[in-house]
Amino acid sequence: MPWRNDRSGLETWQRGETGFPLVDAGMRELWQRGWLHNRARMVTASFLTKDLLVDWREGARWYWDTLVDADLANNTLEWQWVAGSGADAAPYHRIFNPDTQASRFDPDGAYAARWLGEGPRPEPIVDHALARRRALDAYEKIRRSRGSRGRRPAPGRSPT
Ligand SMILES: Cc1cc2nc3c(=O)[nH]c(=O)nc-3n(C[C@H](O)[C@H](O)[C@H](O)COP(=O)(O)OP(=O)(O)OC[C@H]3O[C@@H](n4cnc5c(N)ncnc54)[C@H](O)[C@@H]3O)c2cc1C
Repeated sequence: MPWRNDRSGLETWQRGETGFPLVDAGMRELWQRGWLHNRARMVTASFLTKDLLVDWREGARWYWDTLVDADLANNTLEWQWVAGSGADAAPYHRIFNPDTQASRFDPDGAYAARWLGEGPRPEPIVDHALARRRALDAYEKIRRSRGSRGRRPAPGRSPT
């Protein structure tokens, strides 16, 4: 996977300053409480690996360092699930839209207000639509480079 070496993006994500309220609220809750709800874990992890195209292992390392319930198996497999790699990964092209997730799971903005306060909020550091396209193109590139290898055969048909 052509992960981007984006140190400043990674640190902005760690500090909860990406400009996406649900992502930032989750990352700030993680820093202050060492815990966040599974939904916030999925949305923050998807943002790092898909919107910023940063290696899932960087995210797993930060969670390992900050989560009070850090568990090697759960953390590693869950990050791979979100990133589209690993044993039972979610399809790579399933990319969480952080704004749609916020309107669904924090419709009144109470969660964001709790962890971000009422003050000014940072501007979004990426255009989600463009970032999504970039992630899908990156995935398409490796899918093509692998050719048909690894594609699951149609039901009832042998792989060869
Ligand atoms: C990117 C990412 C990283 C994660 N890292 C961890 C981690 O380091 N440690 C960890 O325990 N869980 C991890 N999870 C799974 C899940 O988010 C947490 O287990 C759950 O949110 C913990 O909250 P709770 O104790 O209130 O869970 P509850 O909903 O009360 O569930 C009770 C227990 O069931 C287990 N559990 C619940 N959901 C999951 C799940 N999706 N996968 C595996 N076990 C689960 C946990 O042991 C949890 O404590 C991660 C999920 C994601 C998306």
